[in-house]
Amino acid sequence: MTRDELTTYIKAEALRLGFDVCGIAKAGVVVPQCATMYNGWITQGHQATMSYLERNCEKRFNPTLLVEGCKSIICVALNYAPKQPIEGIADYAQGMDYHKIIKDKLHLLLKSINNICEVKGRAFCDSAPVMERYWAVKAGIGYIGRNRQLIIPGKGSSFFLGELFIDIELCYDTPYERNHCGDCRKCIESCPATALSDEGLDANKCLSYLTIEHRGELPENIGEKMGKCFYGCDRCQVVCPHNRFATPNTTPELQPTEKLLKMSYDKWKRLTKEEYDTLFAGSAVERCGYEQLVRNITAMNEAGHKN
Ligand code: SF4
Ligand code: SF4
Repeated sequence: MTRDELTTYIKAEALRLGFDVCGIAKAGVVVPQCATMYNGWITQGHQATMSYLERNCEKRFNPTLLVEGCKSIICVALNYAPKQPIEGIADYAQGMDYHKIIKDKLHLLLKSINNICEVKGRAFCDSAPVMERYWAVKAGIGYIGRNRQLIIPGKGSSFFLGELFIDIELCYDTPYERNHCGDCRKCIESCPATALSDEGLDANKCLSYLTIEHRGELPENIGEKMGKCFYGCDRCQVVCPHNRFATPNTTPELQPTEKLLKMSYDKWKRLTKEEYDTLFAGSAVERCGYEQLVRNITAMNEAGHKN
Protein backbone atom coordinates (compact mmCIF):
# COMPACT_ATOMS: atom_id res chain seq x y z
CA MET A 1 0.00 0.00 0.00
CA THR A 2 1.35 3.45 -0.85
CA ARG A 3 1.40 6.22 1.74
CA ASP A 4 -1.49 7.87 -0.04
CA GLU A 5 -3.55 4.66 -0.02
CA LEU A 6 -2.77 4.04 3.65
CA THR A 7 -3.89 7.58 4.54
CA THR A 8 -7.16 7.07 2.67
CA TYR A 9 -7.64 3.70 4.38
CA ILE A 10 -7.05 5.18 7.87
CA LYS A 11 -9.57 7.96 7.31
CA ALA A 12 -12.17 5.53 5.98
CA GLU A 13 -11.58 3.24 8.98
CA ALA A 14 -11.99 6.17 11.38
CA LEU A 15 -15.40 6.93 9.87
CA ARG A 16 -16.36 3.25 9.85
CA LEU A 17 -15.59 3.08 13.57
CA GLY A 18 -18.05 5.90 14.21
CA PHE A 19 -15.96 9.06 14.23
CA ASP A 20 -17.54 11.95 12.37
CA VAL A 21 -14.35 13.61 11.15
CA CYS A 22 -10.72 12.57 10.75
CA GLY A 23 -7.72 14.65 9.72
CA ILE A 24 -3.99 14.05 9.93
CA ALA A 25 -1.18 16.42 10.95
CA LYS A 26 2.58 16.04 10.84
CA ALA A 27 3.93 15.81 14.39
CA GLY A 28 6.38 18.51 15.44
CA VAL A 29 6.98 21.39 17.79
CA VAL A 30 3.99 23.73 18.04
CA VAL A 31 4.46 27.21 16.57
CA PRO A 32 6.15 29.63 19.05
CA GLN A 33 3.15 31.98 19.10
CA CYS A 34 0.93 29.15 20.38
CA ALA A 35 3.36 28.29 23.18
CA THR A 36 3.66 31.98 24.10
CA MET A 37 -0.13 32.36 24.28
CA TYR A 38 -0.45 29.25 26.39
CA ASN A 39 2.31 30.32 28.79
CA GLY A 40 0.73 33.78 29.08
CA TRP A 41 -2.62 32.19 29.95
CA ILE A 42 -0.96 30.12 32.68
CA THR A 43 1.00 33.12 34.01
CA GLN A 44 -2.25 35.01 34.43
CA GLY A 45 -3.60 32.12 36.50
CA HIS A 46 -6.52 31.51 34.15
CA GLN A 47 -6.18 27.75 34.60
CA ALA A 48 -7.54 28.17 38.17
CA THR A 49 -6.73 25.10 40.30
CA MET A 50 -6.16 22.80 37.29
CA SER A 51 -2.46 22.60 38.06
CA TYR A 52 -1.95 19.69 35.65
CA LEU A 53 -2.21 22.29 32.90
CA GLU A 54 0.97 23.91 34.23
CA ARG A 55 2.99 20.69 34.09
CA ASN A 56 4.71 18.87 31.22
CA CYS A 57 4.77 21.91 28.97
CA GLU A 58 7.81 20.61 27.08
CA LYS A 59 5.78 17.56 26.08
CA ARG A 60 2.70 19.69 25.48
CA PHE A 61 4.58 21.82 22.98
CA ASN A 62 6.43 18.91 21.38
CA PRO A 63 4.46 15.66 20.89
CA THR A 64 7.64 13.78 19.98
CA LEU A 65 8.73 14.19 23.60
CA LEU A 66 5.41 12.77 24.77
CA VAL A 67 5.59 9.78 22.41
CA GLU A 68 9.08 9.01 21.21
CA GLY A 69 9.26 8.41 17.49
CA CYS A 70 5.84 9.98 16.84
CA LYS A 71 5.62 11.19 13.25
CA SER A 72 1.92 11.66 12.59
CA ILE A 73 -1.06 12.79 14.63
CA ILE A 74 -4.37 11.32 13.53
CA CYS A 75 -7.07 13.65 14.88
CA VAL A 76 -10.66 12.53 15.22
CA ALA A 77 -13.89 14.19 16.29
CA LEU A 78 -17.04 12.52 17.59
CA ASN A 79 -20.36 14.35 17.67
CA TYR A 80 -22.08 14.59 21.06
CA ALA A 81 -24.96 16.94 20.18
CA PRO A 82 -27.97 15.39 21.96
CA LYS A 83 -31.42 14.64 20.57
CA GLN A 84 -32.74 16.87 23.35
CA PRO A 85 -30.85 18.78 26.02
CA ILE A 86 -31.29 17.63 29.62
CA GLU A 87 -31.85 20.72 31.69
CA GLY A 88 -29.01 21.27 34.14
CA ILE A 89 -26.47 18.86 32.65
CA ALA A 90 -23.97 19.75 29.94
CA ASP A 91 -24.73 18.03 26.65
CA TYR A 92 -21.45 16.13 26.58
CA ALA A 93 -22.26 14.35 29.86
CA GLN A 94 -25.60 12.77 28.92
CA GLY A 95 -24.16 9.34 28.14
CA MET A 96 -21.19 7.22 29.15
CA ASP A 97 -17.74 8.65 29.81
CA TYR A 98 -16.36 9.94 26.50
CA HIS A 99 -12.72 9.27 27.45
CA LYS A 100 -13.33 5.53 27.28
CA ILE A 101 -15.55 5.67 24.19
CA ILE A 102 -12.99 7.64 22.18
CA LYS A 103 -9.97 5.68 23.40
CA ASP A 104 -11.65 2.34 22.67
CA LYS A 105 -12.39 3.49 19.13
CA LEU A 106 -8.84 4.80 18.68
CA HIS A 107 -7.43 1.45 19.84
CA LEU A 108 -9.62 -0.27 17.25
CA LEU A 109 -8.29 2.16 14.65
CA LEU A 110 -4.71 1.30 15.65
CA LYS A 111 -5.58 -2.39 15.31
CA SER A 112 -6.99 -1.77 11.82
CA ILE A 113 -3.79 0.02 10.81
CA ASN A 114 -1.73 -2.84 12.18
CA ASN A 115 -3.65 -5.22 9.90
CA ILE A 116 -1.96 -3.40 7.03
CA CYS A 117 1.44 -2.49 8.42
CA GLU A 118 3.33 -2.58 11.69
CA VAL A 119 2.79 0.68 13.51
CA LYS A 120 3.31 1.76 17.10
CA GLY A 121 0.83 4.22 18.48
CA ARG A 122 -0.77 5.78 21.54
CA ALA A 123 -4.30 7.05 21.90
CA PHE A 124 -5.26 10.20 23.77
CA CYS A 125 -8.50 11.89 24.69
CA ASP A 126 -8.33 14.76 27.12
CA SER A 127 -5.93 12.60 29.12
CA ALA A 128 -2.39 13.88 28.54
CA PRO A 129 -0.54 17.11 27.77
CA VAL A 130 -1.78 17.30 24.18
CA MET A 131 -2.91 20.55 22.56
CA GLU A 132 -5.99 18.92 21.12
CA ARG A 133 -7.58 21.90 19.42
CA TYR A 134 -4.24 23.05 17.99
CA TRP A 135 -3.70 19.66 16.35
CA ALA A 136 -7.27 19.51 15.11
CA VAL A 137 -6.67 22.85 13.36
CA LYS A 138 -3.37 21.55 11.95
CA ALA A 139 -5.20 18.45 10.73
CA GLY A 140 -7.62 20.68 8.80
CA ILE A 141 -10.66 19.81 10.91
CA GLY A 142 -11.74 23.29 11.94
CA TYR A 143 -10.82 26.49 13.75
CA ILE A 144 -10.88 27.78 17.32
CA GLY A 145 -13.73 30.22 17.91
CA ARG A 146 -14.00 33.07 20.41
CA ASN A 147 -15.67 30.61 22.78
CA ARG A 148 -12.35 28.66 22.70
CA GLN A 149 -14.09 25.63 21.23
CA LEU A 150 -13.06 23.86 18.06
CA ILE A 151 -15.67 24.75 15.47
CA ILE A 152 -16.05 22.33 12.59
CA PRO A 153 -17.41 24.19 9.57
CA GLY A 154 -20.86 22.92 8.67
CA LYS A 155 -21.09 20.82 11.84
CA GLY A 156 -20.66 23.07 14.88
CA SER A 157 -18.68 22.63 18.09
CA SER A 158 -20.38 19.78 19.99
CA PHE A 159 -17.57 17.33 19.36
CA PHE A 160 -15.22 15.28 21.48
CA LEU A 161 -11.66 15.28 20.18
CA GLY A 162 -9.17 12.44 20.26
CA GLU A 163 -5.72 11.74 18.84
CA LEU A 164 -3.73 8.73 17.76
CA PHE A 165 0.02 9.40 17.74
CA ILE A 166 1.78 6.99 15.37
CA ASP A 167 5.35 6.38 14.29
CA ILE A 168 4.98 6.43 10.51
CA GLU A 169 4.71 9.24 7.97
CA LEU A 170 1.35 9.73 6.26
CA CYS A 171 -0.09 12.28 3.82
CA TYR A 172 -1.06 15.41 5.75
CA ASP A 173 -4.10 17.62 5.58
CA THR A 174 -3.85 21.34 4.97
CA PRO A 175 -4.21 23.23 8.26
CA TYR A 176 -7.48 25.12 8.64
CA GLU A 177 -6.30 28.70 8.52
CA ARG A 178 -9.58 30.60 8.32
CA ASN A 179 -11.68 31.85 11.22
CA HIS A 180 -15.39 32.38 10.66
CA CYS A 181 -16.25 34.27 13.85
CA GLY A 182 -16.11 37.61 12.02
CA ASP A 183 -17.81 40.39 13.99
CA CYS A 184 -19.85 37.94 16.06
CA ARG A 185 -19.34 38.16 19.84
CA LYS A 186 -22.40 36.23 20.93
CA CYS A 187 -20.48 33.78 23.10
CA ILE A 188 -18.67 36.55 24.99
CA GLU A 189 -21.86 38.54 25.45
CA SER A 190 -23.88 35.52 26.56
CA CYS A 191 -21.50 34.21 29.19
CA PRO A 192 -23.31 34.77 32.50
CA ALA A 193 -20.04 34.72 34.41
CA THR A 194 -17.95 37.07 32.21
CA ALA A 195 -15.46 34.24 31.91
CA LEU A 196 -14.88 34.82 28.20
CA SER A 197 -13.15 37.82 26.69
CA ASP A 198 -11.08 38.59 23.62
CA GLU A 199 -8.08 37.37 25.62
CA GLY A 200 -9.68 33.94 26.07
CA LEU A 201 -11.22 32.00 28.91
CA ASP A 202 -10.68 32.65 32.60
CA ALA A 203 -11.47 29.29 34.17
CA ASN A 204 -11.70 30.88 37.63
CA LYS A 205 -15.03 32.39 36.57
CA CYS A 206 -16.29 29.70 34.22
CA LEU A 207 -19.34 27.80 35.47
CA SER A 208 -18.19 24.68 33.73
CA TYR A 209 -14.97 24.73 35.75
CA LEU A 210 -16.67 25.77 38.98
CA THR A 211 -19.37 23.10 38.86
CA ILE A 212 -17.14 20.23 37.68
CA GLU A 213 -13.48 20.78 38.53
CA HIS A 214 -13.58 23.11 41.50
CA ARG A 215 -13.42 21.39 44.89
CA GLY A 216 -14.58 23.04 48.09
CA GLU A 217 -17.13 25.81 48.41
CA LEU A 218 -18.55 27.66 45.46
CA PRO A 219 -18.15 31.45 45.26
CA GLU A 220 -20.96 33.40 46.90
CA ASN A 221 -24.05 34.12 44.77
CA ILE A 222 -22.82 31.82 42.00
CA GLY A 223 -26.27 30.23 41.90
CA GLU A 224 -27.68 33.31 40.17
CA LYS A 225 -25.18 32.93 37.36
CA MET A 226 -25.67 29.17 37.17
CA GLY A 227 -29.36 29.48 36.40
CA LYS A 228 -30.50 25.89 35.93
CA CYS A 229 -27.04 24.52 35.09
CA PHE A 230 -25.73 22.38 37.93
CA TYR A 231 -23.27 20.28 35.95
CA GLY A 232 -21.33 22.26 33.37
CA CYS A 233 -22.59 25.07 31.16
CA ASP A 234 -23.19 25.11 27.42
CA ARG A 235 -24.29 28.70 26.95
CA CYS A 236 -21.29 29.88 24.92
CA GLN A 237 -21.91 26.98 22.55
CA VAL A 238 -25.70 27.16 22.42
CA VAL A 239 -25.61 30.77 21.20
CA CYS A 240 -22.96 30.09 18.57
CA PRO A 241 -24.53 30.42 15.12
CA HIS A 242 -22.35 27.57 13.85
CA ASN A 243 -24.23 25.15 16.06
CA ARG A 244 -27.36 25.60 14.00
CA PHE A 245 -25.72 22.96 11.79
CA ALA A 246 -25.52 20.46 14.65
CA THR A 247 -27.34 17.16 14.19
CA PRO A 248 -28.11 14.75 17.06
CA ASN A 249 -25.43 12.15 17.63
CA THR A 250 -26.25 8.50 16.98
CA THR A 251 -23.53 6.87 19.12
CA PRO A 252 -25.34 4.31 21.32
CA GLU A 253 -23.02 4.86 24.34
CA LEU A 254 -23.76 8.59 24.31
CA GLN A 255 -27.53 8.22 24.65
CA PRO A 256 -29.04 9.13 28.05
CA THR A 257 -30.88 6.50 30.06
CA GLU A 258 -34.65 6.70 30.55
CA LYS A 259 -34.02 7.30 34.23
CA LEU A 260 -31.89 10.35 33.50
CA LEU A 261 -34.44 11.70 31.03
CA LYS A 262 -37.15 11.41 33.69
CA MET A 263 -35.31 13.49 36.30
CA SER A 264 -36.94 16.75 37.39
CA TYR A 265 -36.00 19.65 39.60
CA ASP A 266 -37.81 18.10 42.56
CA LYS A 267 -36.00 14.80 42.04
CA TRP A 268 -32.60 16.50 41.73
CA LYS A 269 -33.28 18.36 44.97
CA ARG A 270 -33.77 15.07 46.81
CA LEU A 271 -31.01 13.14 45.01
CA THR A 272 -29.64 10.32 47.17
CA LYS A 273 -26.20 8.73 46.87
CA GLU A 274 -27.84 5.50 45.65
CA GLU A 275 -29.72 7.36 42.89
CA TYR A 276 -26.55 9.21 41.94
CA ASP A 277 -24.68 5.90 41.63
CA THR A 278 -27.40 4.42 39.43
CA LEU A 279 -27.75 7.51 37.25
CA PHE A 280 -24.09 8.16 36.65
CA ALA A 281 -22.20 4.85 36.82
CA GLY A 282 -19.64 4.99 34.01
CA SER A 283 -20.58 8.56 33.11
CA ALA A 284 -18.29 11.60 32.95
CA VAL A 285 -20.40 13.05 35.79
CA GLU A 286 -18.59 10.68 38.16
CA ARG A 287 -15.71 13.15 37.95
CA CYS A 288 -17.79 15.53 39.99
CA GLY A 289 -18.80 13.12 42.76
CA TYR A 290 -22.06 12.99 44.71
CA GLU A 291 -21.25 15.61 47.35
CA GLN A 292 -20.10 18.11 44.77
CA LEU A 293 -23.16 17.58 42.61
CA VAL A 294 -25.37 18.16 45.65
CA ARG A 295 -23.34 21.31 46.40
CA ASN A 296 -24.16 22.57 42.89
CA ILE A 297 -27.85 21.64 43.11
CA THR A 298 -28.08 23.43 46.45
CA ALA A 299 -26.52 26.59 44.97
CA MET A 300 -29.02 26.48 42.11
CA ASN A 301 -31.83 25.84 44.56
CA GLU A 302 -30.86 28.72 46.85
CA ALA A 303 -30.90 31.09 43.90
CA GLY A 304 -34.54 30.10 43.34
CA HIS A 305 -34.19 28.40 39.98
CA LYS A 306 -36.82 25.80 39.47
CA ASN A 307 -37.64 23.46 36.61
S1 SF4 B 1 -19.11 27.46 29.77
FE1 SF4 B 1 -20.60 29.01 30.54
S2 SF4 B 1 -19.49 30.14 32.11
FE2 SF4 B 1 -17.94 29.02 30.91
S3 SF4 B 1 -17.30 30.45 29.34
FE3 SF4 B 1 -18.97 29.27 28.45
S4 SF4 B 1 -20.84 30.49 28.89
FE4 SF4 B 1 -19.19 31.24 30.21
S1 SF4 C 1 -20.64 32.69 19.09
FE1 SF4 C 1 -19.80 33.93 17.43
S2 SF4 C 1 -17.83 34.69 18.22
FE2 SF4 C 1 -18.45 32.99 19.52
S3 SF4 C 1 -17.43 31.22 18.67
FE3 SF4 C 1 -19.48 31.31 17.75
S4 SF4 C 1 -19.19 32.47 15.85
FE4 SF4 C 1 -17.37 32.81 17.09
